[in-house]
Amino acid sequence: MKKLLFIYNPHAGRGQIRGKLAEILNAFTRAGCLCTAYPTQAPGDAARAARELAPGFDRVACCGGDGTLHEVVEGLMELPEGSRPPVGYLPAGTTNDYARNLKLPKGMEEMAALAASGEPRPVDIGRLGEKWFIYVAAFGLFTDVAYNTPQSFKNTFGHLAYVMKGASELGNLKGYSLRVEHDEGVLEGEYLYGMVSNTVSVGGVLGLPSDEVVLDDGLLELVLVERPRSVAQLNATILALAKQEYNAESGVVGLHSSRFRIACAEKVPFTLDGEFGGEYAETEIAAVNTPVRIVYGK
Ligand SMILES: [Mg+2]
Repeated sequence: MKKLLFIYNPHAGRGQIRGKLAEILNAFTRAGCLCTAYPTQAPGDAARAARELAPGFDRVACCGGDGTLHEVVEGLMELPEGSRPPVGYLPAGTTNDYARNLKLPKGMEEMAALAASGEPRPVDIGRLGEKWFIYVAAFGLFTDVAYNTPQSFKNTFGHLAYVMKGASELGNLKGYSLRVEHDEGVLEGEYLYGMVSNTVSVGGVLGLPSDEVVLDDGLLELVLVERPRSVAQLNATILALAKQEYNAESGVVGLHSSRFRIACAEKVPFTLDGEFGGEYAETEIAAVNTPVRIVYGK
């Protein structure tokens, strides 16, 4: 039998996994796996479990939010590449951004069956300095206060357009004066918000067109929102974000690159996959081409 390590966060998504454990374990067994279940005990525990236990297993399945998957991949990245089992993902968070890339079936039992026996595909992982992210590194507007939980992240983006619409707030919006090097050149300007991502969904609200995003192409997407100078520009920015139209005229820059170097006169706080990821005046972000494998749906 295949040996499967099941790492799950019992608190994710308001504990929605608790009533489903029996059917999940049964689906693993039906798929020919002997399962070892590990409920995480604290933040950081999924990374530790993956790092310490995964090398003895044929496959890892994880259940939780984007943060749980982030930790599992973080733990695997500390292992030699040949010791990283493929990962099946059963999303059970409140936002589940990354799952939107994977075409997973509905229902825990179906997702468990797929996680155990589906075909793993190589995916890229982002690196910011010494840290990893699976789908987004972001900075700017609200990110210093709001990314501690997926729900506040989501709410923040829901409020973004609303808050930005208050013209009286324009002068108070904090921008970062940045120099951003990418594969094709350099951008300089004052930006409210920026993200480097490998996903079609961020915060369940902000998105990228699915035909523009490929998880294993060695490229990350950059979206930069300029600080609006006028109400007219503000309106153009909000419209561009809503329609996912990223171009210079709208004040929203969008481009693909394999690496970025971001420099600012002050320290910029970053979030990685929705969690605080440190503050940097200068940082390098790069795609690491397919160091791990994740199971997709059809
Ligand atoms: Mg990509």
